[in-house]
Amino acid sequence: MECIFCQIIAGAIPSEKVHETESLIVIKDIAPQAPTHLLAIPKAHLPTLNDCKDPNLLGELLDTARFMAKATGIEESGYRTLINTNADGGQVVHHLHLHILGGRSLSSSMG
Ligand code: 5GP
Ligand code: ZN
Repeated sequence: MECIFCQIIAGAIPSEKVHETESLIVIKDIAPQAPTHLLAIPKAHLPTLNDCKDPNLLGELLDTARFMAKATGIEESGYRTLINTNADGGQVVHHLHLHILGGRSLSSSMG
C-alpha cells in the first residue's frame, strides 16, 4: 500500500486525527497554510474527485467541513473549502481530500 492517506487511515503512519465517521477521517495538515488547516479524507481510496461517483459522500465531505468549522470556532470568521484535482489543480496526494482552511484572512485570488 503506497498511498500515504491510505496508510494514515490504516494507522500505519501517525497523524493528528480530530474527527472520524464510518466513511471519513479529519486530520490536521502536516504543513498548515493557515491557523486551522484540516483535511477531510474519505476512507475509500478514490484518487481524485473525478473518481467519486457517490453524491452522498461528496455531501458528507462538505457537511463535515461545516461541522469542523463550527468545532474549531471559525464558522463566523470564515473559512475556505478546497479540493485540488490532478496536475493543473495542484493535487499532490492522489487520494481524494477536502481542505478546510481558516483562522486568518485568505486571499480572494483563485490563482
Ligand atoms: P493536495 O495538494 O494534494 O491537495 O494536498 C495534499 C496535502 O496533504 C498538503 O497540504 C500536505 O501538506 C498534506 N500532507 C501530505 N502528506 C501528509 C502527511 O503525511 N500527513 C498529513 N497530516 N498531511 C499530509
Ligand atoms: Zn489512498
